[in-house]
Amino acid sequence: MFRMQKPLPPEFSEAGDSFLIESIKRSKEILGESLFILGHHYQRDDIIQFADARGDSLALSKLAAAQTAAKYIVFCGVHFMAEAADILTSDDQIVILPDLNAGCSMADMANIDQVSLCWQDLEAIVDIKNVVPITYINSAANLKAFVGRYGGSVCTSSNAQSVVKWALNKSENSKIIFFPDQHLGRNTAYDLGFNENDMVVWDPHMELGGNDKQELADAKFILWKGHCSIHQRFSTSNIADFRKQYPNGQVIVHPECSHDVVSEADLAGSTDYIIKTITAAPTGAIFGVGTEIHLVNRLATEHPDKTIVSLDPLVCPCATMFRIDLKHLAWILNMLTKGTVTNQIKVEKDIQEFAKLALDRMLEIV
Ligand code: SF4
Repeated sequence: MFRMQKPLPPEFSEAGDSFLIESIKRSKEILGESLFILGHHYQRDDIIQFADARGDSLALSKLAAAQTAAKYIVFCGVHFMAEAADILTSDDQIVILPDLNAGCSMADMANIDQVSLCWQDLEAIVDIKNVVPITYINSAANLKAFVGRYGGSVCTSSNAQSVVKWALNKSENSKIIFFPDQHLGRNTAYDLGFNENDMVVWDPHMELGGNDKQELADAKFILWKGHCSIHQRFSTSNIADFRKQYPNGQVIVHPECSHDVVSEADLAGSTDYIIKTITAAPTGAIFGVGTEIHLVNRLATEHPDKTIVSLDPLVCPCATMFRIDLKHLAWILNMLTKGTVTNQIKVEKDIQEFAKLALDRMLEIV
Protein backbone atom coordinates (compact mmCIF):
# COMPACT_ATOMS: atom_id res chain seq x y z
CA MET A 1 0.00 0.00 0.00
CA PHE A 2 1.50 3.32 -1.01
CA ARG A 3 1.53 6.03 1.64
CA MET A 4 3.01 9.44 1.16
CA GLN A 5 5.51 10.82 3.60
CA LYS A 6 5.82 14.56 3.12
CA PRO A 7 9.40 15.86 2.78
CA LEU A 8 11.07 16.87 6.03
CA PRO A 9 12.01 20.51 6.66
CA PRO A 10 15.64 21.23 5.65
CA GLU A 11 16.50 21.74 9.33
CA PHE A 12 16.19 17.94 9.66
CA SER A 13 16.66 16.61 6.12
CA GLU A 14 20.03 18.33 5.79
CA ALA A 15 21.23 17.93 9.38
CA GLY A 16 24.21 15.83 10.44
CA ASP A 17 24.03 12.99 12.96
CA SER A 18 25.38 14.98 15.93
CA PHE A 19 22.65 17.65 15.56
CA LEU A 20 19.99 14.95 15.18
CA ILE A 21 21.19 12.97 18.20
CA GLU A 22 21.22 16.11 20.38
CA SER A 23 17.78 17.08 19.11
CA ILE A 24 16.34 13.64 19.98
CA LYS A 25 17.90 13.72 23.46
CA ARG A 26 16.49 17.21 24.07
CA SER A 27 12.99 16.24 22.89
CA LYS A 28 13.02 13.10 25.03
CA GLU A 29 13.90 15.19 28.05
CA ILE A 30 11.14 17.72 27.37
CA LEU A 31 8.49 15.05 26.70
CA GLY A 32 9.49 12.91 29.70
CA GLU A 33 7.03 10.19 30.68
CA SER A 34 4.47 11.32 28.14
CA LEU A 35 6.67 9.69 25.47
CA PHE A 36 7.48 6.02 24.96
CA ILE A 37 9.63 4.94 22.02
CA LEU A 38 9.36 1.38 20.76
CA GLY A 39 12.09 -0.15 18.59
CA HIS A 40 11.58 -3.33 16.59
CA HIS A 41 14.51 -5.78 16.61
CA TYR A 42 15.10 -5.13 12.89
CA GLN A 43 15.72 -1.41 13.38
CA ARG A 44 19.18 0.02 12.90
CA ASP A 45 21.37 0.59 15.97
CA ASP A 46 21.23 4.38 15.83
CA ILE A 47 17.46 4.14 16.33
CA ILE A 48 17.56 1.29 18.86
CA GLN A 49 19.79 3.42 21.13
CA PHE A 50 16.77 5.69 21.74
CA ALA A 51 14.17 2.95 22.20
CA ASP A 52 12.61 2.66 25.67
CA ALA A 53 11.83 -0.96 24.79
CA ARG A 54 12.70 -3.28 21.95
CA GLY A 55 10.98 -6.43 20.83
CA ASP A 56 9.00 -8.10 18.07
CA SER A 57 5.77 -6.63 16.79
CA LEU A 58 3.39 -8.25 19.27
CA ALA A 59 5.62 -7.78 22.30
CA LEU A 60 5.96 -4.10 21.43
CA SER A 61 2.20 -3.63 21.03
CA LYS A 62 1.59 -5.22 24.42
CA LEU A 63 4.29 -3.02 25.94
CA ALA A 64 2.65 0.02 24.40
CA ALA A 65 -0.69 -0.95 25.94
CA ALA A 66 0.97 -1.32 29.33
CA GLN A 67 2.46 2.20 29.15
CA THR A 68 -0.64 3.98 30.36
CA ALA A 69 1.34 7.05 31.47
CA ALA A 70 2.64 7.61 27.95
CA LYS A 71 0.42 9.76 25.80
CA TYR A 72 2.65 9.42 22.73
CA ILE A 73 3.83 6.03 21.51
CA VAL A 74 6.44 6.47 18.78
CA PHE A 75 6.70 3.17 16.94
CA CYS A 76 10.04 2.62 15.22
CA GLY A 77 8.93 -0.25 13.05
CA VAL A 78 6.54 -0.58 10.11
CA HIS A 79 2.94 0.44 9.44
CA PHE A 80 1.07 -2.76 10.43
CA MET A 81 2.88 -2.74 13.80
CA ALA A 82 1.83 0.82 14.53
CA GLU A 83 -1.75 -0.14 13.62
CA ALA A 84 -1.64 -3.09 16.05
CA ALA A 85 -0.31 -0.76 18.76
CA ASP A 86 -3.18 1.68 18.10
CA ILE A 87 -5.70 -1.17 18.36
CA LEU A 88 -4.27 -2.39 21.67
CA THR A 89 -3.67 1.01 23.32
CA SER A 90 -6.35 3.19 24.90
CA ASP A 91 -8.28 5.82 22.95
CA ASP A 92 -6.36 8.70 24.52
CA GLN A 93 -2.94 7.33 23.51
CA ILE A 94 -1.50 8.50 20.21
CA VAL A 95 0.59 6.14 18.08
CA ILE A 96 3.07 7.73 15.68
CA LEU A 97 5.12 6.20 12.85
CA PRO A 98 8.16 8.41 12.10
CA ASP A 99 8.04 7.70 8.34
CA LEU A 100 4.67 6.91 6.74
CA ASN A 101 6.44 5.12 3.89
CA ALA A 102 7.69 2.45 6.29
CA GLY A 103 5.35 -0.32 5.17
CA CYS A 104 5.91 -4.07 4.89
CA SER A 105 6.13 -5.61 1.43
CA MET A 106 4.72 -8.89 2.75
CA ALA A 107 1.72 -7.22 4.39
CA ASP A 108 1.04 -5.42 1.11
CA MET A 109 0.80 -8.75 -0.76
CA ALA A 110 -2.74 -9.30 0.53
CA ASN A 111 -5.34 -6.54 0.53
CA ILE A 112 -8.93 -6.55 1.69
CA ASP A 113 -10.41 -6.54 -1.86
CA GLN A 114 -8.35 -9.56 -2.90
CA VAL A 115 -9.15 -11.48 0.28
CA SER A 116 -12.88 -10.66 0.02
CA LEU A 117 -12.92 -11.90 -3.60
CA CYS A 118 -11.14 -15.09 -2.57
CA TRP A 119 -13.71 -15.61 0.19
CA GLN A 120 -16.57 -15.15 -2.33
CA ASP A 121 -14.99 -17.73 -4.64
CA LEU A 122 -14.61 -20.18 -1.77
CA GLU A 123 -18.25 -19.64 -0.72
CA ALA A 124 -19.31 -20.99 -4.10
CA ILE A 125 -17.15 -24.12 -3.77
CA VAL A 126 -17.03 -25.24 -0.14
CA ASP A 127 -19.16 -24.92 2.98
CA ILE A 128 -17.76 -21.57 4.08
CA LYS A 129 -18.72 -22.23 7.71
CA ASN A 130 -15.84 -24.71 7.82
CA VAL A 131 -13.28 -22.20 6.55
CA VAL A 132 -11.26 -20.50 9.28
CA PRO A 133 -9.31 -17.42 8.16
CA ILE A 134 -5.96 -16.87 9.90
CA THR A 135 -3.87 -13.81 9.29
CA TYR A 136 -0.27 -13.40 10.28
CA ILE A 137 0.19 -10.30 12.43
CA ASN A 138 2.13 -8.87 9.47
CA SER A 139 -1.06 -7.66 7.79
CA ALA A 140 -3.19 -4.54 7.54
CA ALA A 141 -5.74 -3.82 10.27
CA ASN A 142 -8.66 -4.36 7.87
CA LEU A 143 -7.47 -7.94 7.25
CA LYS A 144 -7.29 -8.54 10.98
CA ALA A 145 -10.85 -7.21 11.14
CA PHE A 146 -11.85 -9.58 8.32
CA VAL A 147 -10.65 -12.64 10.23
CA GLY A 148 -12.26 -11.32 13.42
CA ARG A 149 -15.60 -10.95 11.63
CA TYR A 150 -15.44 -14.45 10.10
CA GLY A 151 -14.50 -16.39 13.24
CA GLY A 152 -10.74 -16.56 12.65
CA SER A 153 -7.67 -15.31 14.47
CA VAL A 154 -4.42 -13.45 14.11
CA CYS A 155 -1.18 -15.39 14.70
CA THR A 156 2.49 -14.57 15.14
CA SER A 157 5.50 -16.67 14.22
CA SER A 158 5.72 -17.71 17.91
CA ASN A 159 2.18 -19.01 18.21
CA ALA A 160 1.21 -20.05 14.65
CA GLN A 161 1.10 -23.75 15.63
CA SER A 162 -1.29 -23.18 18.54
CA VAL A 163 -3.55 -20.94 16.47
CA VAL A 164 -3.68 -23.39 13.56
CA LYS A 165 -4.39 -26.29 15.96
CA TRP A 166 -7.23 -24.26 17.48
CA ALA A 167 -8.63 -23.61 13.99
CA LEU A 168 -8.38 -27.29 13.02
CA ASN A 169 -10.20 -28.29 16.19
CA LYS A 170 -13.17 -26.05 15.46
CA SER A 171 -14.76 -28.90 13.45
CA GLU A 172 -13.61 -32.09 11.78
CA ASN A 173 -14.09 -30.44 8.40
CA SER A 174 -12.13 -27.30 9.26
CA LYS A 175 -10.23 -25.81 6.37
CA ILE A 176 -7.77 -22.98 6.81
CA ILE A 177 -7.06 -20.00 4.66
CA PHE A 178 -3.76 -18.53 5.81
CA PHE A 179 -2.48 -15.13 4.68
CA PRO A 180 -0.33 -13.29 3.73
CA ASP A 181 2.81 -15.45 4.27
CA GLN A 182 2.69 -18.79 2.47
CA HIS A 183 5.95 -19.91 4.11
CA LEU A 184 4.83 -19.52 7.71
CA GLY A 185 1.57 -21.27 6.77
CA ARG A 186 3.37 -24.14 5.02
CA ASN A 187 6.02 -24.59 7.71
CA THR A 188 3.33 -24.66 10.40
CA ALA A 189 1.25 -27.21 8.50
CA TYR A 190 4.31 -29.46 8.04
CA ASP A 191 5.13 -29.12 11.75
CA LEU A 192 1.64 -30.36 12.54
CA GLY A 193 2.10 -33.48 10.39
CA PHE A 194 0.46 -32.38 7.12
CA ASN A 195 2.11 -32.70 3.74
CA GLU A 196 2.08 -30.93 0.40
CA ASN A 197 -1.03 -32.85 -0.74
CA ASP A 198 -2.99 -31.07 1.99
CA MET A 199 -2.07 -27.59 0.74
CA VAL A 200 -2.74 -25.37 -2.24
CA VAL A 201 -1.37 -21.91 -2.93
CA TRP A 202 -3.78 -19.07 -3.70
CA ASP A 203 -2.37 -16.60 -6.21
CA PRO A 204 -4.60 -13.50 -5.99
CA HIS A 205 -3.73 -12.57 -9.56
CA MET A 206 -5.17 -15.79 -11.04
CA GLU A 207 -8.69 -17.14 -11.42
CA LEU A 208 -9.56 -19.28 -8.36
CA GLY A 209 -6.09 -18.46 -7.14
CA GLY A 210 -4.65 -20.72 -9.87
CA ASN A 211 -6.49 -23.85 -8.64
CA ASP A 212 -9.43 -25.88 -9.86
CA LYS A 213 -12.56 -26.37 -7.77
CA GLN A 214 -11.68 -29.92 -6.76
CA GLU A 215 -8.24 -28.90 -5.51
CA LEU A 216 -9.81 -26.18 -3.38
CA ALA A 217 -12.48 -28.56 -2.08
CA ASP A 218 -9.84 -31.15 -1.12
CA ALA A 219 -7.24 -28.82 0.43
CA LYS A 220 -6.96 -28.52 4.19
CA PHE A 221 -4.77 -25.43 3.85
CA ILE A 222 -5.14 -22.61 1.35
CA LEU A 223 -1.90 -20.63 1.55
CA TRP A 224 -1.86 -17.08 0.24
CA LYS A 225 0.92 -16.43 -2.25
CA GLY A 226 2.81 -13.87 -0.17
CA HIS A 227 6.31 -13.84 1.26
CA CYS A 228 8.89 -11.75 3.06
CA SER A 229 11.45 -10.62 0.53
CA ILE A 230 14.17 -10.72 3.21
CA HIS A 231 13.55 -14.22 4.57
CA GLN A 232 12.72 -15.78 1.20
CA ARG A 233 16.25 -14.93 0.02
CA PHE A 234 17.89 -17.57 2.23
CA SER A 235 18.60 -20.77 0.33
CA THR A 236 19.79 -24.31 0.96
CA SER A 237 23.04 -23.43 -0.79
CA ASN A 238 23.60 -20.72 1.88
CA ILE A 239 23.24 -23.49 4.46
CA ALA A 240 25.66 -25.76 2.58
CA ASP A 241 28.25 -22.93 2.37
CA PHE A 242 27.91 -22.20 6.09
CA ARG A 243 28.32 -25.89 7.01
CA LYS A 244 31.43 -26.12 4.85
CA GLN A 245 32.99 -23.11 6.62
CA TYR A 246 31.73 -23.97 10.13
CA PRO A 247 31.31 -27.76 10.44
CA ASN A 248 30.52 -27.37 14.15
CA GLY A 249 28.06 -24.54 13.66
CA GLN A 250 24.29 -24.59 13.98
CA VAL A 251 21.85 -23.13 11.50
CA ILE A 252 18.95 -21.21 12.99
CA VAL A 253 16.29 -19.62 10.76
CA HIS A 254 12.98 -17.78 10.93
CA PRO A 255 9.85 -19.66 9.74
CA GLU A 256 9.25 -16.99 7.08
CA CYS A 257 12.05 -18.82 5.21
CA SER A 258 11.03 -21.39 2.59
CA HIS A 259 10.22 -24.93 3.72
CA ASP A 260 13.37 -26.47 2.20
CA VAL A 261 15.52 -23.99 4.17
CA VAL A 262 13.60 -24.62 7.40
CA SER A 263 13.90 -28.41 6.83
CA GLU A 264 17.66 -28.23 6.42
CA ALA A 265 18.19 -25.88 9.37
CA ASP A 266 19.03 -27.26 12.81
CA LEU A 267 16.63 -24.88 14.52
CA ALA A 268 13.74 -22.70 13.38
CA GLY A 269 11.60 -20.22 15.26
CA SER A 270 10.43 -16.66 15.75
CA THR A 271 12.67 -13.64 16.26
CA ASP A 272 12.21 -14.02 19.99
CA TYR A 273 13.17 -17.72 19.79
CA ILE A 274 16.31 -16.89 17.78
CA ILE A 275 17.40 -14.25 20.31
CA LYS A 276 16.74 -16.49 23.33
CA THR A 277 18.48 -19.51 21.76
CA ILE A 278 21.62 -17.57 20.87
CA THR A 279 21.67 -15.78 24.24
CA ALA A 280 21.41 -19.09 26.12
CA ALA A 281 24.10 -20.85 24.03
CA PRO A 282 27.50 -21.48 25.68
CA THR A 283 30.64 -19.48 24.95
CA GLY A 284 32.20 -20.61 21.69
CA ALA A 285 28.87 -21.52 20.05
CA ILE A 286 28.65 -20.86 16.31
CA PHE A 287 25.44 -19.86 14.56
CA GLY A 288 24.51 -19.22 10.94
CA VAL A 289 21.38 -17.11 11.23
CA GLY A 290 18.61 -16.73 8.66
CA THR A 291 16.90 -13.48 9.57
CA GLU A 292 17.14 -9.70 9.10
CA ILE A 293 20.71 -8.44 9.04
CA HIS A 294 20.44 -5.69 11.69
CA LEU A 295 19.34 -8.25 14.25
CA VAL A 296 22.10 -10.67 13.23
CA ASN A 297 24.76 -7.95 13.51
CA ARG A 298 23.42 -6.78 16.87
CA LEU A 299 23.47 -10.34 18.23
CA ALA A 300 27.06 -10.67 17.05
CA THR A 301 28.01 -7.44 18.85
CA GLU A 302 26.18 -8.38 22.05
CA HIS A 303 27.72 -11.88 22.16
CA PRO A 304 31.41 -11.41 21.29
CA ASP A 305 32.17 -14.80 22.90
CA LYS A 306 30.17 -16.56 20.14
CA THR A 307 30.46 -16.62 16.37
CA ILE A 308 27.26 -15.28 14.84
CA VAL A 309 27.06 -14.73 11.09
CA SER A 310 24.31 -14.20 8.54
CA LEU A 311 23.60 -17.28 6.45
CA ASP A 312 23.62 -15.08 3.37
CA PRO A 313 26.66 -12.78 3.22
CA LEU A 314 24.87 -10.64 0.60
CA VAL A 315 21.63 -10.23 2.52
CA CYS A 316 20.19 -6.71 2.45
CA PRO A 317 18.34 -5.03 5.30
CA CYS A 318 14.58 -4.78 5.32
CA ALA A 319 14.25 -1.67 3.13
CA THR A 320 11.04 -0.48 4.76
CA MET A 321 12.30 -0.88 8.34
CA PHE A 322 15.38 1.02 7.18
CA ARG A 323 13.24 4.07 6.35
CA ILE A 324 13.05 4.94 10.03
CA ASP A 325 16.17 7.02 10.57
CA LEU A 326 17.53 9.71 12.87
CA LYS A 327 16.16 12.49 10.66
CA HIS A 328 12.56 11.25 10.87
CA LEU A 329 12.77 10.43 14.56
CA ALA A 330 14.29 13.83 15.43
CA TRP A 331 11.66 15.65 13.33
CA ILE A 332 8.68 13.80 14.76
CA LEU A 333 9.82 14.31 18.36
CA ASN A 334 10.60 17.98 17.75
CA MET A 335 7.04 18.44 16.43
CA LEU A 336 5.68 16.80 19.58
CA THR A 337 7.61 19.22 21.80
CA LYS A 338 5.78 22.00 19.97
CA GLY A 339 2.45 20.29 20.64
CA THR A 340 1.98 19.14 17.02
CA VAL A 341 1.17 15.51 16.30
CA THR A 342 2.20 14.33 12.85
CA ASN A 343 2.14 10.85 11.30
CA GLN A 344 -0.47 9.56 13.73
CA ILE A 345 -1.63 6.02 12.88
CA LYS A 346 -5.31 5.75 13.64
CA VAL A 347 -7.36 2.67 12.85
CA GLU A 348 -11.04 3.38 12.12
CA LYS A 349 -13.46 2.44 14.89
CA ASP A 350 -15.36 -0.36 13.08
CA ILE A 351 -12.12 -1.92 11.82
CA GLN A 352 -10.60 -1.58 15.24
CA GLU A 353 -13.46 -3.46 16.91
CA PHE A 354 -13.16 -6.61 14.78
CA ALA A 355 -9.38 -6.46 14.53
CA LYS A 356 -9.21 -6.37 18.32
CA LEU A 357 -11.54 -9.35 18.43
CA ALA A 358 -9.08 -11.29 16.23
CA LEU A 359 -6.11 -10.20 18.34
CA ASP A 360 -7.89 -11.02 21.60
CA ARG A 361 -8.84 -14.44 20.22
CA MET A 362 -5.16 -15.12 19.57
CA LEU A 363 -4.24 -14.02 23.08
CA GLU A 364 -6.88 -16.35 24.52
CA ILE A 365 -5.60 -19.29 22.45
CA VAL A 366 -1.98 -18.99 23.54
S1 SF4 B 1 11.43 -8.20 7.35
FE1 SF4 B 1 9.90 -8.95 5.87
S2 SF4 B 1 8.02 -9.27 7.05
FE2 SF4 B 1 9.42 -7.99 8.33
S3 SF4 B 1 8.79 -5.85 7.87
FE3 SF4 B 1 10.48 -6.37 6.44
S4 SF4 B 1 9.40 -7.14 4.59
FE4 SF4 B 1 7.90 -7.16 6.26
